[in-house]
Amino acid sequence: MKIDNILFEKSIKILKDLISFKTISGENNSSLINYCEDILAKCGATSFKVFDDEGKRVNLFATLKAKKPNGKEPIILSGHTDVVPVSKGWSTNPFIAEIKNDKLYGRGSCDMKGFLACSLAFAEIFSKSNLSRDIHFSLTFDEETACIGAPLLIKELKKRKITNGICIVGEPTEMKIIDSHKACHEYTTFFEGLAGHSSKPDEGVNAAEYASKYVNKLMSLRNDLINRKPKDSIFVPAHSTLSIGGIFGGIAHNVIADKCHVNWETRPVNKEDGIFLNSEIDKYADDLLSEMKKKYPNASIKKKIIGEIIGFNRVNNSKACEFVSSITGDNSREVVSFGTEAGLFQEIGISTVVCGPGSIEQAHKIDEFIELSEIKKCLNFLEGVKDKSVVN
Ligand SMILES: [Zn+2]
Repeated sequence: MKIDNILFEKSIKILKDLISFKTISGENNSSLINYCEDILAKCGATSFKVFDDEGKRVNLFATLKAKKPNGKEPIILSGHTDVVPVSKGWSTNPFIAEIKNDKLYGRGSCDMKGFLACSLAFAEIFSKSNLSRDIHFSLTFDEETACIGAPLLIKELKKRKITNGICIVGEPTEMKIIDSHKACHEYTTFFEGLAGHSSKPDEGVNAAEYASKYVNKLMSLRNDLINRKPKDSIFVPAHSTLSIGGIFGGIAHNVIADKCHVNWETRPVNKEDGIFLNSEIDKYADDLLSEMKKKYPNASIKKKIIGEIIGFNRVNNSKACEFVSSITGDNSREVVSFGTEAGLFQEIGISTVVCGPGSIEQAHKIDEFIELSEIKKCLNFLEGVKDKSVVN
């Protein structure tokens, strides 16, 4: 199949526009969303938005209705609109896309505005076809910061009873089929004790020392996680992992630290491990806290959830995977080490697959780019989606 040059150029134009919106996670993404909504509305799509608490960041869900519905489940083309921050050292302006040697450079080019651009460019073709099923476009905010936007959208989908179908999450996989990843839970645990002179350690409550005990407990629980490894695990490593991201506390050598906090994360292979770990560490924290309170009743230990991205589970005979295979001819199934929004769609009963243009190798990096050939691959794929969604 050969992709029409006009369609390709249109995708590149949209991709350049999308990159020019500085939608770093946590920032207002409404200009980008309005831009996308406008393109989709011109194609006849109806849509709704779901905002965050401050009304600053927004999810968009748009639908091209089937003209001749024949009972086929709808397709959801899903992507996040946020990008990770940029560090120094780019050879181009990260927010002005540039093409060099058949690669398009810019923040978000592969993760994952490339997929969004292809989907938006293709919307017009979908709209002019005799669609036999609904095609949905799902655009979320703040995926990169532990999937903050998508759960709000999912809640709304449940309310509107949009809980069946095939969802394609277009994260960069070089159009390979990803059908599973671990969960990713991030926490910060804050310790507050009582300051004092280091020469009299017994008169204070040392937050840094209690945080150390907590970290030691986490490390012993890490061994338990290894022992709990499921026999049939498809992941590498096969067990749930746990890692300490940092310990921060204290002000001087000779002062008892009154504050300390620990950043840590775990990547559970199943729900049970996540529950086990949290209940064990919370129990331990309760014991530590009663010890701290004996000397200082105002002492505290607070565990803050930074984000809990749920896992994406392999399903035998997955409708979504088979749908993609039937278009690309690729029957392989792979597992990745990064988290996505896929598990959230899967959880409400939507058959889900992760498959999109570009390589994760270039994501989150300086001089992020997408190969133009990947854009073409994605447009070819969408052509296949169309062929399977029309009545002639
Ligand atoms: Zn991404």
